[in-house]
Amino acid sequence: MFVYYLLIFILGSTWSSFACCFAYRYQHNISIIQPHSRCDNCLKSLKLWQLIPILGYCIQKGHCFYCHAKIPCLSVIIELCFSGYLTIICATYPIEKTFVLLALCCWTLLLILTDFFTKTVPTYFLISGGFLICILNFQRILITLRLNLLFMLFFSSILVLLSFLRMLGSGDTIFLIFLGFIYGFIPMLIVVIISCLFALCYFFVCKFQKSIAFLPFIGISLFLVLFFIH
Ligand SMILES: [Zn+2]
Repeated sequence: MFVYYLLIFILGSTWSSFACCFAYRYQHNISIIQPHSRCDNCLKSLKLWQLIPILGYCIQKGHCFYCHAKIPCLSVIIELCFSGYLTIICATYPIEKTFVLLALCCWTLLLILTDFFTKTVPTYFLISGGFLICILNFQRILITLRLNLLFMLFFSSILVLLSFLRMLGSGDTIFLIFLGFIYGFIPMLIVVIISCLFALCYFFVCKFQKSIAFLPFIGISLFLVLFFIH
């Protein structure tokens, strides 16, 4: 089992490193393929060992190998938190559900980061990822539709209405509808309530910003609720 958890930890740190890079490049309108990763200060291309998630940062002691400029630690914090979370959550789920769980968490993390940095999400990734997660959860969706169809239609209509009234972003709406059809009305209601509480705290701490990215709060709430909806 140790190798299984180690592989999940490595996958989590690798994906979160990629997601941070993707969000940064999405924010600055830079291609994900070119140019090669480099130091923001001296612009030297980074070698493969310097790009190893968590380890690369530790070996360089948080400073660029070439110019000794401080490397922002946000990426490594996200890598540690996400890979730690994935390892713990996978330990609480049956092994046969691991792949679906990993796909959902990886999709959610990338959306959280892009929305946090840009207040938008890449539509192609939101839609294609959502359909993929739905296909992987096909049986679960059938059960949800059989038990909660009316509630889900009501829930989706409210979300769409809030989106039209510009009280909820379209990305948040689509993300919640996808999740609603997979997990049903009650879990999603809990996710929405926890998200609102988190967002309210953030709103007060950040001194009443005009608008805040909401998807990160939905994503973090989902990560918490996933512990209770096997
Ligand atoms: Zn440098």
